[in-house]
Amino acid sequence: MIMTELVFITMIVIITGSYFLEQWLDYQNLQYTVPELPDKLKDVFDDEEYRKSQLYKQSNTRFSFISSTFSLILLLVVLLFGLFGVLERFLMERVDSYYLFVLLFFGIIGILSDLLSLPFSVYDTFVLEERFGFNRTTVKTFITDHLKGWILTALIAGGILLLITWLYRATGSYFWLLAWGVITLFSLFMSMFYSNLIVPLFNKQTPLEQGDLRDRIEAFARKAGYNLSNIYLIDGSRRSSKANAYFTGLGPKKRIVLYDTLVDDLENEEIVAVLAHEIGHYKKRHTMLNLVLSTVHTGIMLYLFSLFVEFPVFSRVLGGSEASFHMGLIAFGIIYTPVSTVLGILMNKISRKHEYQADEYAGSFGLADPLISSLKKLTRNNLSNLTPHPAYVFFHYSHPPLLQRIENLDQP
Ligand SMILES: [Zn+2]
Repeated sequence: MIMTELVFITMIVIITGSYFLEQWLDYQNLQYTVPELPDKLKDVFDDEEYRKSQLYKQSNTRFSFISSTFSLILLLVVLLFGLFGVLERFLMERVDSYYLFVLLFFGIIGILSDLLSLPFSVYDTFVLEERFGFNRTTVKTFITDHLKGWILTALIAGGILLLITWLYRATGSYFWLLAWGVITLFSLFMSMFYSNLIVPLFNKQTPLEQGDLRDRIEAFARKAGYNLSNIYLIDGSRRSSKANAYFTGLGPKKRIVLYDTLVDDLENEEIVAVLAHEIGHYKKRHTMLNLVLSTVHTGIMLYLFSLFVEFPVFSRVLGGSEASFHMGLIAFGIIYTPVSTVLGILMNKISRKHEYQADEYAGSFGLADPLISSLKKLTRNNLSNLTPHPAYVFFHYSHPPLLQRIENLDQP
């Protein structure tokens, strides 16, 4: 019994600990201002826009405080009342097949938690983003997005869950190796075909139209040795006025995607600079590296999970009776939080390094100045925080703050 209590207390400490860490970081970031903006950042915002960007930061921080406090309370209630065990018993009495049981068990948990988070997501889109003039999502798009999301999750997550459950039951202690293989193959497939299979469900992607922009991009792509046919425009303006661009995919399935909002906001030379940055990600093999890192991570995680799932104590803690795959999965999800926080910090650090490298790649074609001016424009249009707290950057930023990127690009 002592063991059960110890594990229970450990879980509570982990959950509340990571909550307080988040709140502390948010608070530091909220309070953090510099007496005077550095010269390199002075022309990003005028006074009114700067004030607006500070307000946006405050609203976001307040919103994240309310939603994460709600999640914390919810999770604590579920644990204190052993509600996972209640759901387990309820379904056990009614369902014979373990596969159907696992689908219903995680399906119900998923649907309930999605419904409970729905008001927050509505508020975020239609109140918060709307107030700052970012929102372009219609109610219809919001609803259909949500429904499509549900169907996709049911198919993909449901399928993987069934497969892994089957592997676990069929192979026992070697299951993690096989599960690793399956997940790796699946993520390889997804990173190849994501743009062909998933993106079209939500957005339209079109090849670049004829004209000055296409000519310039073509000229640059030739210089950089990148195939123009892999560059697409996407209708990001359907949901938000915020602009973006990304590189995705592997080998023949690689592509660079530019938001239509980006093309509207920037001058052609600046767009070429952004494109050069994205080609930099490709040339430096960043996607490949991320895939390797996440594969190694998945392997370690599955191995740890395989050691863990057999102990009945983890099931008892959640209100269940005997050791089981589904309870082990949930307990592991909670206890793994600190590890995934540390790995998240590491991945962000690597990602920030990659951003510098991609910037430098664009700089090597003499595009440092247009890249800087495009970054400034994007910061202005997205009301991004000019002066994030260093600790907040360390934990959460996948891209370096604007000032550091400018300084890196300005180096002779
Ligand atoms: Zn980048």
